Amino acid sequence: MAPRSRCTICQDPRRAEIEQDLVRGAGLRPTAAKYPGVSRFALQRHQKHLDRVIIQAHQAGEVLRADGLLGELRGITDRARGLLARAERAGDLRGAATAIRECRGCLELLARLSGELQSNPVVNIAIAPEWTALRGRILVALEPYSDARGAVVKALSEGSTEEVGNAAR
Ligand SMILES: [Zn+2]
Repeated sequence: MAPRSRCTICQDPRRAEIEQDLVRGAGLRPTAAKYPGVSRFALQRHQKHLDRVIIQAHQAGEVLRADGLLGELRGITDRARGLLARAERAGDLRGAATAIRECRGCLELLARLSGELQSNPVVNIAIAPEWTALRGRILVALEPYSDARGAVVKALSEGSTEEVGNAAR
């Protein structure tokens, strides 16, 4: 694996910690600031390896590590759902819009990782309706608040190229 050996993060002894932070959605900038000698650029480049590592670990039968990361991501998704419910109850529309963004980012990443891990398109199909149902519920709940609904619709239509790290912040 010649290309990967040039990645400083792959070779960094703090790699596991760094990856945990990235998966938790710490964001590139804060993560780079946390680890001396780690640049934002290096983290950005390593993010591709992170996905690949999860896939390869699974394929190699090392499911513990990959499942740990997926489990972490599921935990974050649940927390985001909890935040959404709380924001809805409190009538905190900005908070709800943020939580929706976070849910969406998590579910997208989960769908992508699960699909790739199991190389089974059924997984993607199984996760997509979950998101569709959530989105429907959100939009119905926001019907009386046209401003917030507009903001949410806008947030939902934003490109999926958005960094996962940002989505979780
Ligand atoms: Zn790397």
